[in-house]
Amino acid sequence: MKKRVVFKPYIQNQASAFPPTFDEMIQANHPVRVVNTVIEGLNLDSLLVNYKGGGTSSYHPKMLLKVLVYSYLINIYSSRKMEAALQENIHFMWLSGMNTPDHNTLNRFRTDKLQGVLEQVFTQVVIMLHEQGLLNLKQTYTDGTKIEAHANRYTFVWGKSIKSSKERIERQLQELWSYAQSIAKEELSDTAPLVFEQIDPTVVEDTIAKIDTAIADKPVPPKVKQKINYVKKNFVDKLKKYEEQEQILKGRNSYSKTDPDATFMRMKDDHMRNSQLKPGYNCQISSSNQFIVNYSLHHQAVDYPTYIEHMHQYQKWYGFMPEVNTTDAGYGSEENLLFCKQEGITAFMKYNSFYTEQTKKHKQNRFLQANLHYDPETDILTCPVGKPMYNIGTRAKRTTSGFKQYITEYQPEGCASCPLKDNCFKAKSDRIVSMNHRLNNLKNEARNRLHSEEGIKHRRQRSIDVEPIFGNLKQNKKFKRFNLRGKSGTNIEFGLLAIAHNLKKMAKISN
Ligand code: SF4
Repeated sequence: MKKRVVFKPYIQNQASAFPPTFDEMIQANHPVRVVNTVIEGLNLDSLLVNYKGGGTSSYHPKMLLKVLVYSYLINIYSSRKMEAALQENIHFMWLSGMNTPDHNTLNRFRTDKLQGVLEQVFTQVVIMLHEQGLLNLKQTYTDGTKIEAHANRYTFVWGKSIKSSKERIERQLQELWSYAQSIAKEELSDTAPLVFEQIDPTVVEDTIAKIDTAIADKPVPPKVKQKINYVKKNFVDKLKKYEEQEQILKGRNSYSKTDPDATFMRMKDDHMRNSQLKPGYNCQISSSNQFIVNYSLHHQAVDYPTYIEHMHQYQKWYGFMPEVNTTDAGYGSEENLLFCKQEGITAFMKYNSFYTEQTKKHKQNRFLQANLHYDPETDILTCPVGKPMYNIGTRAKRTTSGFKQYITEYQPEGCASCPLKDNCFKAKSDRIVSMNHRLNNLKNEARNRLHSEEGIKHRRQRSIDVEPIFGNLKQNKKFKRFNLRGKSGTNIEFGLLAIAHNLKKMAKISN
């Protein structure tokens, strides 16, 4: 005999005498409560300053900030999806107090009202976490990752192509001037070829006028006339455009036409696997106990030129530098090592040869400059067969960031007759060895720190402190491309992402 089926009561529109509130329906330890409590406790005066007053009433910035932070916490980055969540999701309804701002309001708040003030919100959250003992602002770990810009991948301006276009213009003007000289050589007193120190619209206009005067009343073939007309019509405008583009480039090698602040760089997580350069930003973070304590966005594709700006921002935000900072080998330049020393930061900062110099092959190669004995008292280097190498002078050179390095050169005598010459070096004259003494001293100090007990501890901690944050942002939070454009927009988005990351981690710890 078939047993009786029993269903649970299902009365869809049943009225309730005491309907539950949203607050009652939300779990006590849900992350939305952490977002609410933390933002309630912040001083948002700097945000209120951005409201002028007058006109119609505005949505409360505290509510909009809570909605944005919670959206980023649960991987909602689109303002349209936030608008939908405010009408469908009880967590959003509870946070917003049933307010339903539309996507335009949410977007305007995100791009305009948070500009220049989100950093203060972020630092207040970090200081609160520090005061609760959840992180340590004195010991930090720094690393960077590249995130794609919200820009077209195929419309770009390339610094090198501007340079070659300008060279082509110079060449064509020189050819026309040579032609003008050849057909007017009897009357023309100016016989010098054209030399351009710098090609700009004024120089082009002057040159065209010069060519026009020289060929006036002369029979000029139609092809040359056509060329001259093309030059007159196009070159000045082209150079004006190049000047504008160079001002946007500001020393970068490229920029995107749809987001001029974004630079083309190679991304690590290249899902197309075609090594194509994409417009993006180099996002630097410092962490402590897997919380983000500092973030900054840069246009350089490599990490070492971003470090000093990143650390100065840390000082601006908290009023001091971290006592200890640990990084990978992408940061260990002479400029950065010196900066840390001068700022009193104990830097566990690997330099680029840190791993290779520990290999057997490197240690046993007595011809390498790093393995030659140097006596600082006599300022003499000893070559692999024991010959003294004397100081033959010091030259200064500047790095791309403008940092001055001093390179001293040493040379022995009589390399030509040395039986080991073929193993030692290739040139015909006596070997010259270049030494950067300041860099070598900084590397020696860094090596000692890195191999110390504390150094090993921080190096281990680095890989489980800062690196998992990028894994979380990109894999768990699926944040692989910005949604806003320009440095100010991307800074706001990364700030929201950083606050959301920190609050989610805080919620996890308190559970
Ligand atoms: S080639 Fe010159 S530098 Fe090299 S080992 Fe011989 S003497 Fe020394």
